[in-house]
Amino acid sequence: MKPSIISVILLGLTILFFTGCSTEEHSLQQDPPLISSSQISDNDSNSEDESKEDETSKDDRSEMNSEDQIVEEHEVEVETNPESTAVLVNKEYSLPEGHKPEDLVYPNIPFTFEEKIEKRQMREEAAMAIEELFSAAEMDGLSLLGVSAYRSYDTQKALFNYYVERDGEEKARTYSAVPGSSEHQTGLAIDVTASYDTCVVEVCFAETEEAKWLEENAADYGFIIRYLEGKESITGYQYEPWHLRYVGKEIAKEIVSLGVTLEEYMNAVPVSN
Ligand SMILES: [Zn+2]
Repeated sequence: MKPSIISVILLGLTILFFTGCSTEEHSLQQDPPLISSSQISDNDSNSEDESKEDETSKDDRSEMNSEDQIVEEHEVEVETNPESTAVLVNKEYSLPEGHKPEDLVYPNIPFTFEEKIEKRQMREEAAMAIEELFSAAEMDGLSLLGVSAYRSYDTQKALFNYYVERDGEEKARTYSAVPGSSEHQTGLAIDVTASYDTCVVEVCFAETEEAKWLEENAADYGFIIRYLEGKESITGYQYEPWHLRYVGKEIAKEIVSLGVTLEEYMNAVPVSN
């Protein structure tokens, strides 16, 4: 079949998009991007390793990358039910305003603080899973600490407004979620660290033994590292090796074996598209 001009244009735009937006601007963007092109380039120096080495596909979907095709075969749809442990929450898919999970509990794991407060909570299933994960890490001689788990809509709103005041909205959006679009509001996400005072919620956490262990083992306990390096243009967030998201063992293992984000797994559009 002779490729149409439109598919050639789409192929070009797709390559441009997945190689980290190397030009200053690209015309695909309709909404203001969560990350500016220059920030993507700064954060994303390895993006070419991540880009797919597609051979030309024989069928009409030649503009799609190979991961999309693999995931599409699973026919997984976007989960929008806020009660589901697989719910997709990002800039495109917000939780209902004021949503609060009904089964929040305090997981029995150490945190960087002692107080029994909101951010220590997780949904029951995720709490049990994080306890198992922390125990397994400890058995391997590693020490993990929780930094922040559940965050209510109101807390996220206050936090986001604070960051907007400090850094302006455009910058704040690259690292803080708009109220309703934070995974922490699901009670299924937790930020972790290996130390009380070094590389806490910083990219250098990725260099720790604990982070490497998480990369290899988190899926066995139902967690994924949600914001991957080189996937900023799909998730809308910078690389966050400390942010774990519970999705259940089955989905976590599938996502890791495919090497995709939750967005790609559910065939959701890139959030900055
Ligand atoms: Zn987080």
